Amino acid sequence: MVEAEQGVGEAQVVDGLGGDEAQSAVEQGLQPAAGSDGGPTDSSSPDTGSKEALSSGLEKTRTGLFSKLSRAVAGRSTVDAAVLDDLEEVLVSSDVGVDTTVEIIRRIEERVRKDKYMNTSELQGILREEIAALLEESEGNFERDGVEGLGAKPYVLMVVGVNGVGKTTTIGKLAAKLSRLGKKVYIGAADTFRAAAIDQLEVWAQRGDSAGSGDVVLVKQQMGSDPASVAFDTLKSAAANGADVVIIDTAGRLHNKVGLMNELTKIRNVMAKVVPDAPHEVMLVLDGSTGQNAFEQAAQFTAATSLAITKLDGTAKGGVVIGISHRFGVPVRWIGIGEGIDDLRPFDRTDFVNALFS
Ligand code: GDP
Ligand code: GDP
Ligand code: MG
Repeated sequence: MVEAEQGVGEAQVVDGLGGDEAQSAVEQGLQPAAGSDGGPTDSSSPDTGSKEALSSGLEKTRTGLFSKLSRAVAGRSTVDAAVLDDLEEVLVSSDVGVDTTVEIIRRIEERVRKDKYMNTSELQGILREEIAALLEESEGNFERDGVEGLGAKPYVLMVVGVNGVGKTTTIGKLAAKLSRLGKKVYIGAADTFRAAAIDQLEVWAQRGDSAGSGDVVLVKQQMGSDPASVAFDTLKSAAANGADVVIIDTAGRLHNKVGLMNELTKIRNVMAKVVPDAPHEVMLVLDGSTGQNAFEQAAQFTAATSLAITKLDGTAKGGVVIGISHRFGVPVRWIGIGEGIDDLRPFDRTDFVNALFS
């Protein structure tokens, strides 16, 4: 294994193969789409511009909800049993999930009972309040500071999820955020199943590296090598070089679920040999546009300690975030609203619900 030299403005690659692959990856068009990549400003800061980005990222879900809600209350002045029935249908068909919908309806019923009379024009505002309160209770006081205030050095984040959900992309976006905070980030290419996966991660590592003053270093081996071995190398290298954060990309093929879960367990065990309490976080990435499938995957990856829900742009199924956040005892930390480097946002319940019902 060759230790990379400190480079400026380029991701360093630690491997035994030399570093020409990155350039060829760019030439092969593997670099991520430009999307809304807006340069070095971090769109996760809570300014107006980023609220607008969230709002436009959730546009399809919002307009879908809004038109269904309008239909549910059309020609009716008070929230009665019939309106609540229709509301239930609206929420279920917006991928909020049955359990969560039942709970939301129960709360609104309670309010209607207390207030005796509720105008249908108030329904949208009340729905917003009740959903925000529900999510507040479900997620408690989970740390939601984004990437700041990580408790360990190196902080080891293992990223899991089925194929195509956006793991690698999310890692690239996270690396850029960390780099902007001046962090030294080691990324392990433990999805060794396809060569293209390693090349894609390398391109993202370089983008992340140039996004800020920190360093983003990719650790990789050849395609087909043992993912646990890559993870081991990455942690060794990270620990030896004083890295702040380690992010491990993993494969997500599902043709053999038991095999996949065993592989993930093996990666975990090997990492703990180098950093005893690693991984500090196992982040499950879910594709929000798959609606109910995302629920099922969340139920399968029981080892996950945090969630990222991607591809909320361009789908009307953004309601899944509400149900997933309510139903699983694991915090949603990030949401993806595009393919660009800045299209990852810390999940803020209030902002999210406001953006849906504005
Ligand atoms: P992986 O197999 O889980 O590593 O998934 P990738 O990171 O390779 O992503 C699969 C595809 O989803 C790529 O084309 C990404 O650009 C795309 N993608 C990832 N996140 C988002 C997102 O938030 N929005 C959109 N529109 N596309 C995304
Ligand atoms: P396996 O069941 O024999 O494949 O081994 P493990 O589950 O213990 O580890 C998986 C991979 O991690 C191995 O193939 C090694 O590449 C790497 N690894 C684990 N432990 C060590 C260690 O103590 N030293 C080194 N150099 N590599 C290790
Ligand atoms: Mg990948």
